[in-house]
Parts: sequence; C-alpha cells; structure tokens
Amino acid sequence: MKHYDYLIVGCGLFGSVVARELTERKKTCLVIDKRNHIGGNIYTEHINDIVVHKYGAHIFHTDNKQVWDYINSFAEFNRYTNSPLANYKGELYNLPFNMNTFYQIWGVRTPAEAISKIETQRLEACIEKPRNLEEQAIFLVGKDIYEKLIKGYTEKQWARSAIDLPAFIIQRLPVRFTFDNNYFDAKYQGIPIGGYTSIIEKMLAKADVVLNVDYFSDKVYLDSLADNIICTGEIDRYFDYCYGTLEYRSLKFETTLLKNQTNFQGNAVVNYTDSDTQYTRIIEHKHFEYGRQPDTVITKEYPVTFAEGEEPYYPINDSDNNRLYESYRQLSLQQKGVYFGGRLAEFKYYDMDRIIERALKFVLQLESK
Ligand code: FAD
Repeated sequence: MKHYDYLIVGCGLFGSVVARELTERKKTCLVIDKRNHIGGNIYTEHINDIVVHKYGAHIFHTDNKQVWDYINSFAEFNRYTNSPLANYKGELYNLPFNMNTFYQIWGVRTPAEAISKIETQRLEACIEKPRNLEEQAIFLVGKDIYEKLIKGYTEKQWARSAIDLPAFIIQRLPVRFTFDNNYFDAKYQGIPIGGYTSIIEKMLAKADVVLNVDYFSDKVYLDSLADNIICTGEIDRYFDYCYGTLEYRSLKFETTLLKNQTNFQGNAVVNYTDSDTQYTRIIEHKHFEYGRQPDTVITKEYPVTFAEGEEPYYPINDSDNNRLYESYRQLSLQQKGVYFGGRLAEFKYYDMDRIIERALKFVLQLESK
C-alpha cells in the first residue's frame, strides 16, 4: 500500500477539517473510520427525501466570523433558528427561558413582573450561593420552572439526582427577559441545505478514505502506512485503558418514518421535561429545512448508560474523570509523531464551531513544527 504523510483516525468533523487543510498543503492523508460512513456524529442521511441528523439535532452556530466563512465555503446555509419547545405532561412551553415561558408559567407580562417572581422564589428557597444543580436552577429561574422544565430532563440526561449534579452544568443556561425564542446568542446560525455529509465529502476530496476499519484492530500495520498519526478516537482506548476508563453518557436514537404524515409536531425540536417519559426529546427533521415532503421522519432520543459497545457521546467532566484524562494527556505528549484532537481524544464536549477552530489551529501548529 501507498505510504502517507498522515494517517488520520476518525473522519468526524475534526479529522475531516485536518485532512482538508493538510491535503491543501500537498500532504498525503489516509483517513480511516470504524463506522460505515464519513462525518462522525454530524453525519446526515436522506430518508424519503428528508435530511435526517442521524446522531441528534445539529444546529450550526458561532460568533466566529472566520469559522462561519470557512463552513459556508463548503455549503449554503439556511436561516434556521433553534427555538425548541418543552412538553411537560402535555403542557407546552417556549425555550430557552424567556418572556414567553414566564408568561406561559406565571401569566406575567412584563420583565419587571418576571424578575420579581423569580426573586420571590429565590428568597423563599434561601439560596445565596448555589451548591448543586438544583440550587443553581432555582437561583436562576425559580422553583416552578425548575420543577417543570429542568429537574426531570436533567435527571434523565445524567441519570443522577439534581442535588448530586454540579451547579456548573447549567451556569450558562440562557435566560432572557425579552420575548425571544432563539436558543443561541451566536451571531451566525443555520443548517447546511442538504445536510452535513456533503460538507465532509468536500473536505475529504483529496484524501484517501477507508471505512469500517477500527484502528485498534490492526494498529501496527496501520501505523506503518504513515509518518505521522492523528488520532481523534478515545484517548483512554489508545493507551489500552492503562490508568482506567473515562466515563461518558451515551444515547440511543429511535428513528421512525411516518408515511403520509406531513407534520408531526410542528417544530424541529421538542424536549420532554417530565421524568416519566423515557426519552428527552423528539426531533422532526424536515423542519430544519422547512420541508414540504408528503412524509415525515422523527427521532426519539434516549439517554443511556455508557458501557462497552455503546457510543460515547457526552464526557462526564467531573473531577475524577478530568484527573484521569490529564494523566492520559501527559502520556500523549510523550508520543513521537502521534497527535490527538477532537472531542474523544480531548475528552471534552465541543460544539462544531469550536471543533473547526481547534482543527484549524492544530494544523497551523503542525506546520510550525
Ligand atoms: P466525532 O464526530 O465523534 O468523530 C470521531 C470519529 O472517530 C467518529 O466517526 C468515530 O467513528 C471515529 N473513531 C473513533 N475511534 C475510532 C477507531 N478506533 N478507529 C476508527 N475510527 C474511530 N454541535 C453544535 O455545534 N451544534 C449542535 O446542535 C450539536 N448537537 C449535538 C448533539 C449531540 C447529541 C451530540 C452528541 C453532539 C452535538 N454537537 C453539536 C457536537 C458535535 O457533534 C461535535 O462538535 C462534533 O461531532 C465533534 O467532531 P469530532 O470529529 O471531534 O468527533
């Protein structure tokens, strides 16, 4: 087989941006992935002419103009604005928490009334410095919203009681005193028309790509094919779990094609915030692109415990796991010609724009070596 400058393990967004930038610089790249498709978690596929986000809703948003211009050079984006709804036992509320939500919960009509309501509930709960997620939530939005819209959802997501979860998880919860249902504050936001997969195809155009190959099943041989390795897979697995296993939360996606049903829920994202409903949200994919197809496709998203064989989705960044990751990171710095990047190798949740920023920076650093 041909010899390459770089073997890139994983053709998710990080690996693909790196492959694009390196091949543009005339480096040869072999990109492998254990899945049967490119794109990692941003992969989209077509079902009955509807673009389906196979691994959960992916809405592109960023404040970084350079990143926005970069991603727009691969696709045209629409004007999609993320405005999820919450369904609590059949009652519907707007998200993120804003004047519409406060009106729906309390009937208040002005910001002053909403602030006063939250302040009263905060005082009743006697919280000065929140010590856990429950206290943080009540501190931010009061007891009523916490109980209807945060408690059940968060406890399902993390499979832990809200009083055992750290406050920082929701420290940046968007709360607005305007009638604005836009979830993100970012300057730029949208969905690539036709999905994310064609973006990745373009990024990988000049690289050789081999799918259905698990790097660890033939590591010695694969390493021999290139001068340098860039690993975007799980860092603890790379080191054979020598210090222990990093913890994640996993998800199960249940996708259904509803034939001859044009509109199932009237919105792309509806969160189910009670604790009895097993899933956390239902995505109706056609609404990301204002679709008018005769059918619709929905996906129910279930949080599940991460175990061997499950996909690692959300790193559990508590102090024990962060310490463990730091040991692996130190080990990774000692590897010659092996580099690590992306959400699994860095054990950190990154939005897509941050992944692009980091991948572009990573290539500049490689170049300067
Ligand atoms: P990945 O996409 O996971 O790519 C890593 C690739 O490496 C995978 O394809 C994997 O199969 C492969 N791999 C791993 N190990 C091996 C191995 N041993 N051998 C071969 N291949 C291997 N971001 C946003 O900006 N907006 C959103 O709305 C948004 N929604 C999200 C919703 C969910 C449910 C999740 C989980 C994430 C969301 N994100 C969102 C984040 C986004 O998915 C990430 O930023 C992005 O996918 C990270 O890219 P990556 O390349 O680091 O990781």
